[in-house]
Formats: sequence, C-alpha cells, structure tokens
Amino acid sequence: MMECDSLISARARAIDVSGIRRVFELGASLTNPIDLSIGQPDFAVPNPIKEAAIAAIRADQNRYSLTQGRGDLRRAISEHLAGDVGWRVPSDDLELLVTSGTSGALLLAFMALLDPGDEAIIADPYFVIYPALGPLTGASIVYCDTYPDFRMTAQCVEPLITDRTKVLLLNSPSNPCGVVLRSSELRDLVGLCQQRGVLIVSDEIYDEFTYEDAREDGRCPSPARFTDRMLLVRGFGKSYGCTGWRMGYVAGPRSLIEQMSKLQQYTFVCAPSMAQAGLVGAFDVDMSEHVRSYQRKRDMVEQAFSGVTELAHSGGAFYVFPKIPARVGGCATDFVERAIRRNVLVIPGNVFSRRDTHFRLSYAASDATLQAGLQILAELMTEPA
Ligand code: PMP
Repeated sequence: MMECDSLISARARAIDVSGIRRVFELGASLTNPIDLSIGQPDFAVPNPIKEAAIAAIRADQNRYSLTQGRGDLRRAISEHLAGDVGWRVPSDDLELLVTSGTSGALLLAFMALLDPGDEAIIADPYFVIYPALGPLTGASIVYCDTYPDFRMTAQCVEPLITDRTKVLLLNSPSNPCGVVLRSSELRDLVGLCQQRGVLIVSDEIYDEFTYEDAREDGRCPSPARFTDRMLLVRGFGKSYGCTGWRMGYVAGPRSLIEQMSKLQQYTFVCAPSMAQAGLVGAFDVDMSEHVRSYQRKRDMVEQAFSGVTELAHSGGAFYVFPKIPARVGGCATDFVERAIRRNVLVIPGNVFSRRDTHFRLSYAASDATLQAGLQILAELMTEPA
C-alpha cells in the first residue's frame, strides 16, 4: 500500500484539529449526555421551506444552477438587503453571490483577496475555521485579543494594522462569545478601515439571533449600514435550522464578487440547487418565535451564572463564553473534563482561542436539558477542583 503521510501538504499539516477532536472523542464516550456543545439551532426547518425544497427535487430541478445562484433566490436576497442595510445589489458597483455555506463564502473571499505574506486580522476568541484561512491561503492571521469583554473595537484593532493588512474579519453576533457590537463601534471600525485601506469582511451568520437589548432600530447592528465598500457575508443555515443544506451568500464590491464567482465556478461550482429552491421564500418566514425563545434561554443562562462567574453579556447567537472562576483552578480543558464526568458536554476555550480559561456553552437546547446542565456547571464552578 502507498505510504501517504509523506505526501501531505504543509497547508493541511498546518491546520490543527486536536482540540475539537478531543472534545468529540470525550463526548462520544457518553451515552446520553446533557449536550450544550452544539453550534446549531435545535428547531426544525419551517415547513414551507422544506416543502419548497422537496417540490424542487420532484420537479427535477436537480441540475447545476448558475454559479452566482438561481435568479429568484438572488432577487429575494437583493430585496432583503435593500430593506435591511439599504444596498442596491446587483448594481454597477455591487454584486452578490449565493455560496455553499457561509464557510464557502469566507474561503472564496480569502482566496480572492490574500496572497502569501498578506495579513488578516481576526478576534481572539474566534470561530474555529478563521485561523485555518491562513494556511489555506498562505496569509498570516493576526489575532486581536478581545478578553475580557470580547469587543473588537477600533481601539484594539488599530495597533495591529500594518502595510500588509488587507482584511479585518468581523463576527457579530459572535461565535463563541455571543457578543454583539454596537453601531457606534462598527462605525468607528469602518472609519479606521477606510482610512487604512483595509477591507472589512463581516460574518453575520447569526444576524437573525440578535436579542432585543442588542438590536438597534429593531435590527442587528451591521457595518453595512455605513459603507458598501466591504464584504457582507450571511447564511441561511442557522437562521432556518438547515445547516446541512450548506447555504450562504455574500454581497459587496462587484470587482471582488466577480473574482469570487470565478473561484466558485472552479471549486464548489454552485450552491446546492434544491436548497436554493427551498430558501427562495425564506425571508417571508417569521422566525421571531424561535428568536424570542432563545432570548429567554439566554436569560436562564445569565441568571444561573450570575454571582457564580464572570460572563460577557450575550446579545446574540446562542452562545455564552463564561470564565472558569479562579477558585476552581486549572485550565478550561480540565474543567470540561470534569463536566463531562458529570455527563455535561461543553467546549473548552482553547478550541476557539490561544487561551484556555473559558468555555463555550450553547443554549440552543431544550429548557430541560439547559436547566439540568446549568445546575451542574454552576456547582462545578462554586467548588474547588
Ligand atoms: N461563521 C460562524 C461565526 C459560524 O459560527 C459558522 C458555523 N458554526 C459559520 C460561519 C459557518 O456556517 P456555514 O454552516 O453556513 O458554513
């Protein structure tokens, strides 16, 4: 048999999945865990969306779509963006692209923008795939330490910008912290980036899950309301509970989106066609009941941990990132191993960060599961290891 190990690229070897793999292995050892580790909603895809996808399959709409996405879905996205951020897309200056997940949009963006030696700034803590965009493109990832409040402000980004900085990757509401930046903070970041010639790539996959206290004018704050010289990346997976359908979209400057379309044509080809059909009417489906329910679960978490540990307010997504209190001692991985021994699954901070001092809890779970898990975690955080 051929020995493959010596053939593996430096690119693949540079990506380390040991942290998250270890959590999966530990989780797999439990038969019926109290699982608060899941990065996706716990509700079903709304029926009209399911029906539209099924109808498309039955009507033999199973071929490739145009690489940029099917026309009716593009029109729906265009109308949504006009109402939400005030962009007119497509237009002379702006274009949009339907992508294979939000991850697909991010990869195409980095491939279209970054050469070896170029720099992209991301927050630490970060969504797990962001650091991998470095080795995948040859670019250097520059970490903006946002502890303890997890707000990536212009003030903390400014000193990190160099002649090689091309991209500032924003993520609000954030994974893993659930923190939502205010419009004033985003406006300052837009100003800084414009002045320094840095492109903002804004990953707003959790925009639907922005709770009342973090909304402004009833909406998720976005840098796209201050500029259209940026990339706006959004997704359908979290908003409608269809993460496995691999559906996202990206809008921004036409010249850049055209490069990304070319790269999509030669890689992903197009987003899944039946999933595109399913989501044509998605913006008309009211998800507010689910959002309110997650806001209530967020309140449950904050109440359970109040006085127990330090917790940055989660204004969106469905995550909190609590600190392991000093009285407990040890690193987050130790803490998570103890939680797992009590049948509770959460993820240690070092999966999302260069530090290992916090853990990620996802509250996208039933009230009963959440309540049971919170009680055990609160107990573990009040007693020394
Ligand atoms: N960005 C963030 C911040 C995420 O949390 C996720 C999913 N966990 C993604 C992007 C990827 O989303 P998709 O499934 O649409 O590729």
